[in-house]
Amino acid sequence: MADEIVRVLCKNAPVNAIAVTGRDLVEQARRIHHTLPVATAALGRSLMACSMLGCRLKGKGSSVTLRIRGGGPIGSVTAVSDTDGCVRGCVNNPAVELPLRGDGKLDVGAAVGRAGTLTVIKDLDLKDPYVGCVPLVSGEIAEDLTQYFVSSEQIPTACALGVLVDRDQSVLRAGGYLIQLLPGAGEDTVEKVEQGVRRLGQVTAALLEDADAGQLLRRALQPFEVEVVERRPVSYRCGCSRQRVERALLSMGRAELAGMIEQQGRCEVSCQFCGKVYSFSGEDLTKLLACV
Ligand SMILES: [Zn+2]
Repeated sequence: MADEIVRVLCKNAPVNAIAVTGRDLVEQARRIHHTLPVATAALGRSLMACSMLGCRLKGKGSSVTLRIRGGGPIGSVTAVSDTDGCVRGCVNNPAVELPLRGDGKLDVGAAVGRAGTLTVIKDLDLKDPYVGCVPLVSGEIAEDLTQYFVSSEQIPTACALGVLVDRDQSVLRAGGYLIQLLPGAGEDTVEKVEQGVRRLGQVTAALLEDADAGQLLRRALQPFEVEVVERRPVSYRCGCSRQRVERALLSMGRAELAGMIEQQGRCEVSCQFCGKVYSFSGEDLTKLLACV
């Protein structure tokens, strides 16, 4: 099953929906960050969610950042998506280990914590980014994102996110969906969506039955006539470059940069999202310093 994102409209109801499958990209995130299972699940769910937020954005160069800080042992979880739904992300503590929950599932809520916030930052290439922030409900991420849409954007939403980790700690399945009611949706529509979501059941179970993103939505939206408006591959993609790192170094200011040349002579900067290392010799740094 390929990593892809599918966006649908319902022809006969004011409902639109997105689903994503991302086994390979979450596995890549696990390898980059060496996450243990509960952190793989937390990061994976955030990446799936952020991908769905990203593909709704308009305008090349726009991006959306999802940041979850709940006071739990994982620290903060960050995911960033471009408008293609391609994502990157990181967690503070990838090695967090917790006992499984009573139902045998990874305890993402306990790893993330519940005393904190979920923040969505939409950078639309305008001067000021849009920032929305809500208190966490459970730290399980899907519920928290649902709450974000209801209270921050006033959009009734059903969201599910799932990451299954295999015995060898690799990612077995990852995916999720976001179903949203548009203005004008009546009680009967709400009821049909709720029924559909119940019928679909747990997203990880559907993914284990090899449902792809389109099938997830078709199952959840069974009573409606569904039209696919977009289907595209997604991947783990980092937008870092030497130029960006140079800009970050320059933003430290003249004194800091000069101090670094004097004390260390050189520097290495590794990207927090993909681990790529950028090396700067004393000569490179002196050239940079001339630009400040
Ligand atoms: Zn990078």
